[in-house]
Amino acid sequence: MDRSKQTDETTRGGFEQRLGLYVHIPFCERKCAYCDFPSYAGQKEQQAPYVDKLCAEIRLKGEELNHPQADTVFLGGGTPSVLQPHLIGKVLKTLRDSFNVLPGAEITCEANPGTLTPAFLKELRENGVNRLSLGAQSAHRDELRLLSRIHDWDMVVSSVQLAREMGFLNINLDLMSGLPGQTWDKLRESLAKAIALKPAHLSCYSLIVEEGTPFHALFEKGQLNLPDEETEREMYHKTAAFLEQAGYTQYEISNFSLPGFECRHNKNCWLYRDYLGFGLSAASLFRGVRQKNPDTLSAYLDGRKPLREELTGQDMAFEQVMLGLRLREGVSEEAFKKRWGQSLFEVFPKALERHIEGGLLAYEDGRLRLTQKGLDLMDRVLLDLFPEQI
Ligand code: SF4
Repeated sequence: MDRSKQTDETTRGGFEQRLGLYVHIPFCERKCAYCDFPSYAGQKEQQAPYVDKLCAEIRLKGEELNHPQADTVFLGGGTPSVLQPHLIGKVLKTLRDSFNVLPGAEITCEANPGTLTPAFLKELRENGVNRLSLGAQSAHRDELRLLSRIHDWDMVVSSVQLAREMGFLNINLDLMSGLPGQTWDKLRESLAKAIALKPAHLSCYSLIVEEGTPFHALFEKGQLNLPDEETEREMYHKTAAFLEQAGYTQYEISNFSLPGFECRHNKNCWLYRDYLGFGLSAASLFRGVRQKNPDTLSAYLDGRKPLREELTGQDMAFEQVMLGLRLREGVSEEAFKKRWGQSLFEVFPKALERHIEGGLLAYEDGRLRLTQKGLDLMDRVLLDLFPEQI
């Protein structure tokens, strides 16, 4: 792809004007056995200094960009709900002072059962948070224990009830599959108990054993009884069918929602729209530049500069397709051409021909999407798209 042409296109308005804002809260009650997210157990004394630094970063960026519009905000972690209520309030007020958070913006906060309090939820509501994402993970005590989660299912139920009482109608529950010893019957039970709570949205992620975690050490010693690949894939298909049957539409590989309750913040990321991230390890994608804040608390508090990477048109075209194919609606040919001045078929001619013929990709009504078979073999498709770009 011609870089000069891309720059021209993008400066003529190829970028969305409205931003998504992500804020990372890196504190948790304790560390889960599978977790390699940038988060710290305890460290309560660091909460206030962290929030001060975070708010300074948010204010500076807002001023630098002249207070642009934002239509989604996502407070993630870590466990934002371990923050003292006045500190989460301070973060939310700073976001509103620094950016033009639009009326009707989707504002999500992640939380974990066992940490939610009425005071915390009240602070969220008073500051406009209208979506709550709860890390439920499993309905089984043995699985939750193995994962080192701090809660049981009763706490999930009481957290949902409390959130509803405090006015949250848009609630997501995170669940995990591919857990050690998990069978379809056990997963189905967790799904059924989650559905019984009538969340607007469900995220179902497969366990990934990440290096450096206690799970990885067990895996290396052969002590993690993981389902094999075929069993896991079968559970994935059964999960999708089970949730569809219950009225949840699968709009992304791991995400399901009732009509009108897709997560707008995450969807904008899959649509490759610009976002700004604040806090330790947070990433931003803004006007063709990716930035990543330092990964450790000490480096962030010391003010170490983010890593900065200027993306080429090739990088961005590939990333747009890679992310867009995660969505069941796929990639819009019109949007792609508007942004890059070339069609998908001009940029990825060989891979598209091969995989449409082979049944992994489909092109219908001006959209390119993965077929059911293609979803299972997504990595193979992406690998073939990538070399055409370099
Ligand atoms: S609560 Fe979430 S972020 Fe915190 S340790 Fe567990 S998995 Fe990691």
